Amino acid sequence: MINNYKLIYKKQHYGLVGKHSAVKVCHWTKSELTGKASCYKNTFYGINSSQCIQMTPALNSCTENCEFCWRFQGFDSMHIGDEDDPEFILEESIKAHLKLISGFKGNPNVSSEAWEKAMHPKHMAISLTGEPTLYTRLGELIAAATKMGISTFLVTNGTLPMVLEKLDPLPTQLYVTVAGPTKEIFNRVLNPAIGNAWENFNKTLELLPSLDTRKVIRHTLVKDVNMPYYDEYEKLDRKADPDFIESKGYVHVGQSIDRLTADNMPSHEMVLEFSNEMARRLGYTPYADRRESRVAMIAKDPSKARIDFDSVLKKAMEKIS
Ligand code: SF4
Repeated sequence: MINNYKLIYKKQHYGLVGKHSAVKVCHWTKSELTGKASCYKNTFYGINSSQCIQMTPALNSCTENCEFCWRFQGFDSMHIGDEDDPEFILEESIKAHLKLISGFKGNPNVSSEAWEKAMHPKHMAISLTGEPTLYTRLGELIAAATKMGISTFLVTNGTLPMVLEKLDPLPTQLYVTVAGPTKEIFNRVLNPAIGNAWENFNKTLELLPSLDTRKVIRHTLVKDVNMPYYDEYEKLDRKADPDFIESKGYVHVGQSIDRLTADNMPSHEMVLEFSNEMARRLGYTPYADRRESRVAMIAKDPSKARIDFDSVLKKAMEKIS
């Protein structure tokens, strides 16, 4: 990794892991730990934010350079040359996460129960930055987490369908970001760094119905840029036939402030209007929304939204062994 990048990541409180992975403690992990609110994935699916590790195995590698991305885009290659072992990445990610939250021990707002819980992570969001499907041993990383009783939420931009097709085991929940309603907007807003990105992305959507796991389409909505385009998004969502659809408004923070303006943030009402219209068109049910995160979720079957993690992980374990 380029040394300058290392300095930036350290300054931004990333915990660097091995040669190409990293963790970063998210706002909601700290919030729940101190007895305050949990993230919207707690509201939608039952994630315990204080037990969640946010990580990436592809810190410096992505197939896109999205305009709305708030992370530092230190992408210097599309291949992870010298790959670390998945068990090493998992163990060191847990250690780095626990080290990053160690400062909360003794904080008067952190109860001993909350601290004890946080010492035993149960969820891993493989989503921090970069495109995780570029790590060729991603399936083994998911398997290692499953064996430790850690659920996995994987977020992909969908440009590598050939990886998803063979991914074994699949994560507990698979997210595909759908933020380009047409080829022109896709290429302009997501800035793919590989050829045929739109075609590959569409192949991923076509593949989704055949993947035996919980699937979520994530619409990242940027006002005056990629919304509403109802007809176009409807076509893409029908192809993917996901279990859940999250619509999330762009937030004007981090690195994205160089590329977009505060006016590009849709209000929560605009996000809700979009989400409800998609629900109406697709026959989904509006499930919940969180105003402070400008996010709304609609479900094909709302009774399946909350995850029974113990039984889902038990099933996943049986498939592995
Ligand atoms: S699921 Fe995402 S937002 Fe929620 S606690 Fe984990 S990393 Fe944070």
